[in-house]
Amino acid sequence: MSSAEQIVAKQRLLAKLQELSWQFRRDGIAIDRAPDELDEVQQASEQELALAAIERDVALANQVRLALQRLERGEYGKCIRCNKRIGSRRLKAVPWASMCLTCQGDVEAEQQRTVPMARPPAPELSPRMNGRYAGSEQTGVKGLTP
Ligand SMILES: [Zn+2]
Repeated sequence: MSSAEQIVAKQRLLAKLQELSWQFRRDGIAIDRAPDELDEVQQASEQELALAAIERDVALANQVRLALQRLERGEYGKCIRCNKRIGSRRLKAVPWASMCLTCQGDVEAEQQRTVPMARPPAPELSPRMNGRYAGSEQTGVKGLTP
C-alpha cells in the first residue's frame, strides 16, 4: 500500500470516528427523550434499540481505532487472521476491515454457531417497530456487519 493510499485511509478512518461520535450524542438524546404519547412498552423497546445502536457504534468505533493503530504500525490492509493482504475493493468499502473476506466469513459463521441469536422482539410489537424503522437511516439495525 502506497503512502498516498495510507493517507487516504487515515482520513477516511478519522472521518468515520467523527461521524460515530456525532451519532453517540444523537442516540443519547433519543434515550433521554420521553414523549407522553408513547406507551411504556414502546418507549422501552425504543430505548433497547437506541442502546443496541450505541453498542454497535461503540464496537465500530473500536474497530476504526484499531485500524488507525494498524496504520501507524504499518500493518494496515493485512488480515489479522491469515496475514494476507485485504483486497483494495474491500478496504474501500470497509476501511476499518481487519480481516480478509474469507476470514471474516469464517469468523461470522463461527459466531453464528456459538453465540445464540438475540431474543427477537415480542410478536405483538413487531409490526409497529417494523413500520417505524423500515426505511430509516439506521441501516445497520438488522445486522452487525457494516
Ligand atoms: Zn484472512
